[in-house]
Amino acid sequence: MVRKPRKFSQDLIEEVVAKDLCTGCGACVISCPANALNLEGGKVVLTHEHCLGDRCGICYEQCPQLVSDEALMRILFGDEMTRSDVGFYRGAYSVRSTSPDISKVCQDGGAVTGILANLLEIGFIDAAIVTGTGDLPWLPEPRIAKSRADLLNSAGSKYSLAPLLLVLKDAEEKGYRQLAVVGTPCQIKAIRRMQTSPLKNKKIVDPVKLCVGLFCLRAFEYQPFAGELRKSLNIELADVDKLSFNGKLVVHCKDGSSHELEAKRLRKLAYPHCWACRDFTSSLADISVGGVGSPHGYSTVLIRTQAGAEAFSEAIKGGELETKPLSEVKPGMDVVEKLARKKRTIAYARISREGWRS
Ligand SMILES: Cc1cc2nc3c(=O)[nH]c(=O)nc-3n(C[C@H](O)[C@H](O)[C@H](O)COP(=O)(O)OP(=O)(O)OC[C@H]3O[C@@H](n4cnc5c(N)ncnc54)[C@H](O)[C@@H]3O)c2cc1C
Repeated sequence: MVRKPRKFSQDLIEEVVAKDLCTGCGACVISCPANALNLEGGKVVLTHEHCLGDRCGICYEQCPQLVSDEALMRILFGDEMTRSDVGFYRGAYSVRSTSPDISKVCQDGGAVTGILANLLEIGFIDAAIVTGTGDLPWLPEPRIAKSRADLLNSAGSKYSLAPLLLVLKDAEEKGYRQLAVVGTPCQIKAIRRMQTSPLKNKKIVDPVKLCVGLFCLRAFEYQPFAGELRKSLNIELADVDKLSFNGKLVVHCKDGSSHELEAKRLRKLAYPHCWACRDFTSSLADISVGGVGSPHGYSTVLIRTQAGAEAFSEAIKGGELETKPLSEVKPGMDVVEKLARKKRTIAYARISREGWRS
């Protein structure tokens, strides 16, 4: 029998990077046994002389852009998988942190930081992989949070993307054995891809016990986003205290003023791969969290898996969260479903127009 040629790094570059579909998650970089891949400007580059070529192919098999959400959902949820626009979930809640230190710094209701703080406290995890900022204002930087103070430092949304999985390798090498990871839908998909991939480097993702996924319509390229704020609002990111959305982008400045920018002005700043993404609610996560669906100051929380249910119930037991069923608040699940449907419709149209794989 003739062996089917194995796809490898060259195919990854042609099918993903050259088509602007690379999310810069870092899955291929941390999986490469020859250290032949790197991220430059948020995109994967290949150093040919190190690459093992078609004797390997691990990078191709780890890439989340080369597998459908549905294939991964089927592995994760089996018969429970639904065709719903928001994926499978066993409970939907509107949630607020009970802790003033979290409420002061969180994006919406502080559900994410509250859940993680409790998991650290009870020893369910020994660290969390979260996204703070580094030297440049609002430029996201993934990091290992080992304490409540680390979590508070990284709370709040940054609307660009960072190579989250690179830190996962650091965490594995430093000996962390029980990790929670917070990420956007594309980042959570990357972890699920690695956990289920046939050619895997499983050691790196073995410590991940909980995936907390964020709702995400799209993320924005850092420099163009900074440039748009400067051009349209005469605001430098260094002067921004918080960014949020209420249909428009709301820019809260450190001097106490706030300013709005029409969402349509941001469309051209989205990463190209965001237009191919069909997942608004991080449907591959154990727990998904967003602002949409809940009143101002609360987070919408979807519990999807047994691990998610346990983490959530521990946070309630630990007194970290105040919760209500989402069905008891307005606007509720309808608006989440509507946005999820809209994101899918836009993505399918774009995928078909560009000839991208779906
Ligand atoms: C790029 C992006 C787009 C989003 N779009 C929407 C949307 O369209 N609709 C909606 O309802 N919600 C959206 N969200 C989610 C929302 O902004 C909040 O993150 C969510 O409601 C959780 O709020 P919280 O108060 O519980 O989180 P917090 O307790 O404040 O914790 C936030 C967590 O998110 C992590 N985080 C912050 N920025 C990033 C990032 N860039 N990448 C990965 N992790 C990050 C932090 O490390 C922290 O752990 C988006 C988030 C991001 C990052």
